[in-house]
Amino acid sequence: MTRRPLVGGNWKMHLLRADAEAYCERLRGESAALPADVALFPSAPLLALVARGLAGTPFACGGQDLHPEEKGAHTGDVSGPQLADAGCEWVLCGHSERRQDHGESDELIGRKAVAARRHGLKPLICIGETLDERRSGTTYEVLDRQLEAGLAGRPEPCAIAYEPIWAIGTGETATPEIAQEAHQHIRETLADLIGAEAAGSKRILYGGSVKPANAAELFSQPDIDGFLVGGASLDPEGFLAIIRSCG
Ligand code: PEP
Repeated sequence: MTRRPLVGGNWKMHLLRADAEAYCERLRGESAALPADVALFPSAPLLALVARGLAGTPFACGGQDLHPEEKGAHTGDVSGPQLADAGCEWVLCGHSERRQDHGESDELIGRKAVAARRHGLKPLICIGETLDERRSGTTYEVLDRQLEAGLAGRPEPCAIAYEPIWAIGTGETATPEIAQEAHQHIRETLADLIGAEAAGSKRILYGGSVKPANAAELFSQPDIDGFLVGGASLDPEGFLAIIRSCG
């Protein structure tokens, strides 16, 4: 089963307009064919600028979150139609920082993924265990629960990002073996939920302190189909190096 790699760059709450413009200009100047699909996830005020800046390039754009309703009195939130209108193709659902900072439940994340599809967006559903959960041996239980709720019975289209929380922004990357073991487990659970064929074609990304120096070894694992990159995506050269390591 060949799966085209996918690499996401999650800018989180970083960068200003001038930085984003310079970043897009650098990507527009990248003429080499990309070995992966690529999406950037800027914060909401930068979305339209980045989508415009990347129009006509192979680089896509996505939101970092969406509200499950399409409009209404939800101050500070962003809707699926607004993301699509800004030029987004993707949206993150259930990033651990949303789960932790905003108390997002598994059930809410499933509703967000359903809403994303309704508005023509592809959800990138993020799952991952805390250090305590890993230490107490409940990693797979947590991943299975988050995965089933995130899919909400509707697997297409979407991609999954496995992001162990203990590896996000900490500099501590999961070893390729630990990551592969979790990815293989996720694919097996997907096979139970959506069938072996669909599970075999589903892209499962790894996220957690990925950088140019560790990307190739992680990518060599059979069930790692690309990356969701936080900190290292803020520098276009580092991000491009990570993308190239998927070739
Ligand atoms: C992320 O935000 O999804 C992430 C993986 O961050 P970092 O690469 O900085 O660990």
